[in-house]
Amino acid sequence: MPRKGIALVISAPSGAGKTTLVQRLMQEFPQFGYSVSCTTRQPRQGEVNGKDYIFLSREEFELRRAQGYFAEWAEVHGNLYGTPLAPVKNSLQNGQDVLFDIDVQGAAQMKLSLAEAVFVFILPPSMEELERRLRSRGLDDEGTIERRLTNARQEIRESRWYDALVVNDELDAAYDALRAVFVAAGLAPCRNPDLPDYLLNH
Ligand code: ADP
Ligand code: 5GP
Repeated sequence: MPRKGIALVISAPSGAGKTTLVQRLMQEFPQFGYSVSCTTRQPRQGEVNGKDYIFLSREEFELRRAQGYFAEWAEVHGNLYGTPLAPVKNSLQNGQDVLFDIDVQGAAQMKLSLAEAVFVFILPPSMEELERRLRSRGLDDEGTIERRLTNARQEIRESRWYDALVVNDELDAAYDALRAVFVAAGLAPCRNPDLPDYLLNH
C-alpha cells in the first residue's frame, strides 16, 4: 500500500557536509524529488540552471515573491533564496518524497506552512573542522568564509527545534543516521493512515 510523501527538510551551516549527504541520499533513493530553489546568487562552477538552482535576478525574484510564488524565502549571505510552492504540493500529493535544502530561517517558515515535514539539522563535529572544510572546498574568499562561520554559530544556536541533529564527523556514520531518520519517517502512522483498516479488511 503506497504511503504519503515525506517532505524532508535538511539544514546545515555552510560547509558542514549537507551537499555530500544529500547527494548520497538521492543516489540511494532515486525516487526522491528535489525541491529546486530559486536564488539571486551567481552560479558556482558546475552548477546547472534548473537543476541545482533556478538562478534569477533580484528584480525577478522580488516579482515572484510578491505573486506568492514561494512556500518560504530567506536572505542568506546577502542573496535571496526561495522554495517554489506549486511543484512541492504536486509531488507530495502524488506520494512522492521531496527533499528540501534550506537554511534555518526558511525551515522555520516551512514548519508553519508544512507542519508534517521532517526537519534534520546537520552539524559539523567542531567549529575548527567546519572552518577546515570551508577552506578545503576552495570556493569562497576569506571574507565569505568569515561571514559563513559567524552565521554558522547563529544557525547552530537555532537548531534545537529540529526533529533530528546529525553530526557529520565520520561520513558513513552520519549518512546512516540521516538514512535512519528518513526510513523511520516512512513508517509513521500519519504517512500510512489507511494501513490498519486495509489490514483489518483482508
Ligand atoms: P555544504 O553543502 O554543507 O556546504 P559540502 O557537502 O560541500 O558542505 O562539504 C564541505 C566540504 O567538506 C567538502 O569539501 C566535502 O567534501 C567535505 N566533507 C563533507 N563531509 C565530510 C566528512 N564527514 N569528513 C570530511 N570532509 C567532509
Ligand atoms: P549555497 O549558496 O551555499 O548553495 O546555499 C546557502 C544557504 O542557502 C544554505 O544554507 C542553503 O540551505 C540555503 N538555501 C538554499 N535554497 C534555499 C531556499 O530555497 N530557501 C531558503 N530559506 N534557504 C535556501
